[in-house]
Amino acid sequence: MSEQDNDFREIIDASSDEEIKVEDENKEKDEYEDICYICRRPESVAGKMIHIPTDICICNDCMQKTFDSMGSFGFGGGDNANLNNVDLTKMPNISMINLSDLGGFMPNMPNSQKLKKKKPKEKKETPVLDIKNIPAPHKIKAELDEYVVGQEYAKKVMSVAVYNHYKRVATNTMDEIEIEKSNMLMIGPTGSGKTYLVKTLARLLDVPLAITDATSLTEAGYIGDDIESVVSKLLAAADNDVERAEQGIIFIDEIDKLAKKKNTNQRDVSGESVQQGMLKLLEGAEVEVPVGASSKNAMVPMTMINTKNILFICGGAFPDLENIVKERLNKSSSMGFMADLKDKYDKEENILMKATVEDLKNFGMIPEFLGRLPILFSLEALDEDMYVRILKEPKNAIIKQYQKLLELDEVKLDFTEEALHAIAKEAKSRELGARALRAIIEEFMLDIMYEIPKDDNIGEVIITEDYITKKGGPQIMMRGCPVLEDKKQS
Ligand code: ADP
Repeated sequence: MSEQDNDFREIIDASSDEEIKVEDENKEKDEYEDICYICRRPESVAGKMIHIPTDICICNDCMQKTFDSMGSFGFGGGDNANLNNVDLTKMPNISMINLSDLGGFMPNMPNSQKLKKKKPKEKKETPVLDIKNIPAPHKIKAELDEYVVGQEYAKKVMSVAVYNHYKRVATNTMDEIEIEKSNMLMIGPTGSGKTYLVKTLARLLDVPLAITDATSLTEAGYIGDDIESVVSKLLAAADNDVERAEQGIIFIDEIDKLAKKKNTNQRDVSGESVQQGMLKLLEGAEVEVPVGASSKNAMVPMTMINTKNILFICGGAFPDLENIVKERLNKSSSMGFMADLKDKYDKEENILMKATVEDLKNFGMIPEFLGRLPILFSLEALDEDMYVRILKEPKNAIIKQYQKLLELDEVKLDFTEEALHAIAKEAKSRELGARALRAIIEEFMLDIMYEIPKDDNIGEVIITEDYITKKGGPQIMMRGCPVLEDKKQS
């Protein structure tokens, strides 16, 4: 090859390098969006930006505010300055400051105001349960069974309620026989799976879900979250898609904290008033909510959402309700011909399952509120066997998760039945519900997850009761060697 040929090749290589560089830059530009220099909102929220020299962008709102304030100082421009037609450089009395000249004074000033754009979500798979063609209640329950252990009654009630609700939404028959909403009120001790049931249901139905705590809500105008903020949370969960949000689920936890306070003369802005404020929302109302923000203010665009088809599920532990139910039951059983022992119900475990609307009224919930949550049911308190089942049966059971983790290191993990019962016993004594299981397992799996990857020869680990009760170590089996080795915990 001649020397000239070589020169040409170099020139071609250099130009193709240049092209790649330009392409890369364009790609980078596509991936980032501009941010307003003043209010820091990105282009996707604040709308088209006005670019001024030296890579600085300002949103229409901030620019308008600047003109408004200049107008009030007599700089011209006035209230009606139309930004889109304004040529900034030709404005009288305004000399633009080149902000990059200030670089010396402000060494930390960013020279590019960019925010990485969110990647568009990949195409969604078809949901397990299609709300447009909702499957029969037994199929919904069968899907729930795969994730939620026990709680048969609760799963049955929820399946029927969800079936009726989405059938009503899909057919939209609102003739003279108007089908009422199937809002639910769920009573259950802490850690019994209230949130988990709702989350699982929403995931199977592929509808947006907003989970809120009733304790943070206050009457409008007081410090705290407005009641309507629950709807704006749902809108955010639906990626600001109003149509999807209008078919979503709102779960309000700790609803028992809204009970009427007894013996108080003060205005109850976070209890009874919130119950009152929620009435319209539960029934179905048009509410104006901010888009892309949690509070209303002049800078945020608003949209209307109808809560007619939003399914509300309220949940709470109702701590003193047990005594109220017991008192009622004992009273009725110790009177008349059929009189029974006065303390017959005192030792009964799942007393909350017998709670009625009357008991909830006595607890402090207002009748109008209870009337809008027509489906009332309770979850069972978990017993030792349930804990063991929760450990191993659900599709994403904790034990299965650890087995999968160790499988990636080609190590087999097993738990003896006695070990599972020992974990369950410990969890029950902590009185935190199923949440305690994870904490206990994390505690003793730490050593295993730390030690096992050290030694490539380990092929299997069996967690024993002794290891859980801290009397011994787990059984370790070496690869290709059937002999058991009892490894004492160091
Ligand atoms: P709460 O009733 O206080 O809302 P959660 O729903 O948050 O309790 O439950 C805590 C955890 O316990 C859940 O994340 C879930 O993993 C587990 N859990 C509780 N009940 C069950 C159940 N019946 N089946 C399977 N897992 C459960």
